[in-house]
Amino acid sequence: MNQPMVRFENVTKRYGALTVLDKLNLDISRNEKVSIIGPSGSGKTTVLRMLMTLERINDGVIWVNGEPLTHMQRSGRMVPANNRHLRRVRGQIGMVFQHFNLFPHMTALQNCMEAPVSVLGLSKPEAEARAAELLDMVGLGEKKNHFPIQLSGGQKQRVAIARALAMRPKVMLFDEVTSALDPELVGEVLNVIRKLGAEYDLTMLMVTHQMGFAKEFSDRVCFFYGGKIAEQGSPDQLFGDPQNERTRQFLSAVL
Ligand code: ADP
Repeated sequence: MNQPMVRFENVTKRYGALTVLDKLNLDISRNEKVSIIGPSGSGKTTVLRMLMTLERINDGVIWVNGEPLTHMQRSGRMVPANNRHLRRVRGQIGMVFQHFNLFPHMTALQNCMEAPVSVLGLSKPEAEARAAELLDMVGLGEKKNHFPIQLSGGQKQRVAIARALAMRPKVMLFDEVTSALDPELVGEVLNVIRKLGAEYDLTMLMVTHQMGFAKEFSDRVCFFYGGKIAEQGSPDQLFGDPQNERTRQFLSAVL
């Protein structure tokens, strides 16, 4: 049971001539909370997109809970995974995006019920009970019948978190989830993430510009530069005593 929950093994991703991830190696333990920071264009979002299999990698293997996400071992060699395998492995991962991506024509409750019914095969009453419970958990029990347009940005983002959790993921990915919010709405979303970290059995990987939150919340912080991890460590070490010149430059520009 000591295998990592997520493993990037020599993962390379290129767009044409541009190498965005360069032989990336990254292990994330079960229930570990990892923040990814770094300058724009350093490959942070690409790491999450590869885990969601939103795009193919060019080389290497990504493992989730001991299973290869992109390729499977068959008679000693790696072959591309089939769709059924991919859906099953990917089903363990939930993602929350910067721009919420809620279904606009569905209420908060319906947004949280759709995939559990259509993908997990839950009955409507089961999915509704679970959705209502999760909306309560993110503080939106009273708004469950509201449509996205009737909700603030912070509330939409909390619905998006409840919707991802409704699929019972083991890993949650957060991609700059507070970047599109007015400053006064950031706190309510971070509070929900804190609550998830404390109460749920979840491995969490977040790309964030909220250095204060990364410092307080993470077990480990990875500083990305040029598609590689230039430096990683505990928040105290990375923010308090960075060893890499690039980390120092980045932190002095953003802190
Ligand atoms: P970050 O999240 O650190 O800002 P990204 O992972 O979004 O960086 O992007 C890394 C690099 O990959 C950037 O130079 C970006 O322009 C490039 N990139 C991302 N997506 C694409 C794409 N679909 N096609 C071409 N280039 C891309």
